Amino acid sequence: MDNKQRSFSAGYLIIAILATWLFNDLVYKPFIIRETEVSYNVFLQDLKENKINEVILNGDRIVFTLKATENQKETAANVVAVTDPDLVERLIASGVAFSAQAPTKSLFSTLFGWILPLLPLFLLWYFIFKRMGGGGPNAMSLGKSKAHEINGEMIGIKFSDVGGVGEAEVELREIIEYLKYPENFSKMGAKLPKGVLLAGSPGTGKTLLAKATAGEAEVPFFFLTGSSFVEMFVGVGAARVRDLFEQAQKKAPCIIFIDEIDAIGQARTSVAGIGGNSEQENTLNQLLAEMDGFAANSGVVIMAATNRPEILDPALIRPGRFDRQIQVNLPTEPGRLEILIIHTRNMPLGSDVNLERLAKITAGFSGAELANLANEAALLAIRKGIKTISMADFDLAIERVVAGLQRKTPLSDAIRSKVSYHEVGHALTAYYLPGTDPVHKISIIPTAKGALGYTMQMPEEDRYLIGENELKARIAVMLGGRAAELIVFQEASTGASNDLERATEMARRMITEFGMSLKLGPVRYANTTGSYLRSGVSGREDLSPATILHIDQEIHRLLDEAQNTAKQILTEHIAVLHEVATFLKEKEVISGDDLTRIVTSMS
Ligand code: ADP
Ligand code: MG
Ligand code: ZN
Repeated sequence: MDNKQRSFSAGYLIIAILATWLFNDLVYKPFIIRETEVSYNVFLQDLKENKINEVILNGDRIVFTLKATENQKETAANVVAVTDPDLVERLIASGVAFSAQAPTKSLFSTLFGWILPLLPLFLLWYFIFKRMGGGGPNAMSLGKSKAHEINGEMIGIKFSDVGGVGEAEVELREIIEYLKYPENFSKMGAKLPKGVLLAGSPGTGKTLLAKATAGEAEVPFFFLTGSSFVEMFVGVGAARVRDLFEQAQKKAPCIIFIDEIDAIGQARTSVAGIGGNSEQENTLNQLLAEMDGFAANSGVVIMAATNRPEILDPALIRPGRFDRQIQVNLPTEPGRLEILIIHTRNMPLGSDVNLERLAKITAGFSGAELANLANEAALLAIRKGIKTISMADFDLAIERVVAGLQRKTPLSDAIRSKVSYHEVGHALTAYYLPGTDPVHKISIIPTAKGALGYTMQMPEEDRYLIGENELKARIAVMLGGRAAELIVFQEASTGASNDLERATEMARRMITEFGMSLKLGPVRYANTTGSYLRSGVSGREDLSPATILHIDQEIHRLLDEAQNTAKQILTEHIAVLHEVATFLKEKEVISGDDLTRIVTSMS
């Protein structure tokens, strides 16, 4: 059933009930009663004088008709019943026809008799609809109301309010250009992506960027969060989407922004657990349908933000939908400085405040955390009753923000050094070993997932077949970080444990799945469902202890060889290792091109 329909009939039911008793108690009854009311002694007198034709005992009233006389027709009158135990006897004695009627309820008794008991029910009903965003019992336009509230708003935020988002800003400039001068695009026959997805960890400024895009383009901004779409009652989410798109189209050019889209856009299979979540599915389907029904040049740009792009339904990121993904990264040191400047520009800073230094020691802080840091410092200064904010306030604020964050301790110099060498170890091994994917990016900004740094490689083409030597090279790259630590610091660190895990898994598969060990031969040792597991725990009981020992020895040999390969490469290019590591420690993030540039300049 359609929801509008349901609330419609519910509203009318109430109106019908109200109208019934209003008419009964306020119009009908008073009309007949007040006109003809007489007092009890008049009634008794009339009864005694035999003037009465008929008597009807009607609860608290006695209605009677007077016999017609020469100058008067038969008239009705009524009297308020008094407690008269002799009444029936008197009536019998007088010989009039009398009967009783069930009393009709008065307004008062109606109210207390059943309206009040039902009141909690009405209240419940009211709050349920309010929760749905319907705004109370007169929500005959349920599902529409929320969208009414989000009239496309003009936003005053500009890119100058956003710092350290570099590439994302460049990509969004194009969208702004389109919103401002759509005719330039249509003249060229160019189509812009309908949907732009901002992806990045929490607090990196995705919401802010979306607002700034609307602000720069000077177009209306429709803001909605994914969770406000998903409602308890079937149909509302979908109705809301429909309504939103209708309104936006009227205001084009404009931006629709769906914040935290993962609330509706989660992969459908993953939410369809027991009972499923069909409401979320309906909403998502409606969103997809609306996006498809949109002409690419309608002037409406749909933006969305998510912290978890990987859990989104693949249908959402298909061409014609959110086909442009913009990564919003944690800020690098210059970015952090920009953000700190933005958030302190209205603050009276003491002369000792060194924002450059603050930017340097806040690696891993998001934009939101930096904003929070500036605010904390101001609060501390206010508490001390001083007029300017000093560096000491900032230092204390860092401690506070960090304490509230765990793990995000600004990394010490020594640790940053280690992480730099580790990552460059991976990168250079990849650079010098043939058959490995080119390095795309090296970073020592701690990630939200807990890694202190990462090296990203980017395959040049899809790989369907991988040779044994390539696999060995990959393992060497995985162990390259550890190898660099061994060379430079003469010891490995815990930072390499994930590398070891991946390398070991790879080596294990080479031997047990791909038959890449001469000693063990072209035999599959892994069981069918997963990779080879150690005997005992649901492993292959048919493997002899000797075979298991051999497998372990072979894994060991492969990993040893790979680590030696990496060590050899890094020792050979030790000067490059030092150079790149120093550069990375300074810059925090370097691109594959930077790496190539440094390496070629040194050889
Ligand atoms: P997200 O949507 O990515 O979680 P928000 O845009 O909601 O992050 O950021 C929250 C607040 O943090 C913003 O309102 C702003 O004050 C601050 N902030 C976050 N990133 C930045 C940035 N890059 N530049 C300036 N301020 C930022
Ligand atoms: Mg946000
Ligand atoms: Zn590593």
